[in-house]
Amino acid sequence: MRPETFDVIVIGAGPAGSRAAERVASRGHSVLLIEKRGKIGTPVRCAEAIGPVSQLEELMEIDKAFVSSVVNGITVVSPKGRSFDARMPRVGMILDRTKFDEHLAASAVKAGAVLRTSHQAVGLIRKGEKISGVKIIDLSSGARYSAVSFVVIGADGVESLSPRWAGLKQNLTTSDMLVCAQETIEGIDVEKKFIEFHLGYDRAPGGYAWVFPKTSSSANLGVGISPLKAGNKTALEYLNDFLEYRSPGGKRQRQVIGACEVAKELPSLAVDGYVVVGEAANQNNPLSGGGILSALIAADTAAESVAEAVEAGTGSYEILNRYSENWKRSEGTRNDLFYKAAQVFYSLNDRKMEKALKKLSREPGLLSSLGADPARIVRSLLLSSPSLAFGIILSILKEKNNAGKN
Ligand SMILES: Cc1cc2nc3c(=O)[nH]c(=O)nc-3n(C[C@H](O)[C@H](O)[C@H](O)COP(=O)(O)OP(=O)(O)OC[C@H]3O[C@@H](n4cnc5c(N)ncnc54)[C@H](O)[C@@H]3O)c2cc1C
Repeated sequence: MRPETFDVIVIGAGPAGSRAAERVASRGHSVLLIEKRGKIGTPVRCAEAIGPVSQLEELMEIDKAFVSSVVNGITVVSPKGRSFDARMPRVGMILDRTKFDEHLAASAVKAGAVLRTSHQAVGLIRKGEKISGVKIIDLSSGARYSAVSFVVIGADGVESLSPRWAGLKQNLTTSDMLVCAQETIEGIDVEKKFIEFHLGYDRAPGGYAWVFPKTSSSANLGVGISPLKAGNKTALEYLNDFLEYRSPGGKRQRQVIGACEVAKELPSLAVDGYVVVGEAANQNNPLSGGGILSALIAADTAAESVAEAVEAGTGSYEILNRYSENWKRSEGTRNDLFYKAAQVFYSLNDRKMEKALKKLSREPGLLSSLGADPARIVRSLLLSSPSLAFGIILSILKEKNNAGKN
């Protein structure tokens, strides 16, 4: 049977994939969007926070149907239990992630994309060196088929295989991941609508615990821990301790267990006929693990080059690589800084973290309604302790040395 033909095939209908499909389809190109899950956005594997609101507003019209609450500030709780509050109106929102993902996928369909759920990519097709399509299995019937295209967009998230098939990504290591456990809790006082981050080795080694308010009396509570630092204790055990401390008696509604990538940026995001976007491309913020907003921004940046490559009738690396370069000049640079800050910050022992937090809380302009400024975080961490400065310089030198070897 002759393979079906599309201008672009997108693997994965999370925020990155649906958004990229919508952007490319709205330029008049034919797009196939495949998603291995039977239902878009289900089950939720996310704490649903996104921000700043103004940045999301620049990307799309915000529909109240997918917003659970608007966040107006941040509370950071230090290892010793000291609380630092920063009022930051509209610094973020807590989404209804299922509705949000459904909205993005519906927008892609409205723009003309063909959406197939329960269809999984099982390999890429090559014509010489160029990637020219996708091998697909229809999970409902078990039927296997192929579809060809000028460009394939890999948006297959944290469990992505497509960037590995394309040769852009190695396996993630344990240090590239936060293991997360989260519960939606009913019956907790979050009237203030501040998001909370709780730090410290006992609370969440190598990461943080969070409270993200969905209403005045319900919230997503979770922990993200480094498996390398957690000893024999599981993320779920850390979560149980956190719930006992922050919301005793709260009613558990929906548990989520999952991993979240906090890795270094990939050196390149494109090869001939293929680009990678979103969490599949290590585009999460490495300090927070958040990846929804960067997935949308990356999708827009990628879609621009993908559409140009289709319009040129090539899908060639030269055009697709503009996406890689544009990303690295903007969000990629920011994420690099967040990566450096995370490397140092999460390696601090509780005493040093306490000191660093004190310093960070006094840094003017560090936090605003636009979120956190990564350059200021790094600078403040450097100033808070000479050993931190040494740590950062060492990590930069190590990186340069490795780059020289490659
Ligand atoms: C517990 C937890 C809490 C989190 N909390 C937040 C948060 O509060 N804020 C935030 O910004 N981020 C958060 N994240 C991260 C966030 O969920 C991701 O960064 C975001 O979903 C990335 O979007 P994406 O489109 O790149 O990938 P995904 O949303 O993972 O979408 C990828 C899609 O591809 C599909 N897929 C995979 N392989 C294939 C295949 N072979 N064929 C077809 N389809 C395939 C998957 O089923 C999935 O639907 C959290 C993550 C976890 C685990």
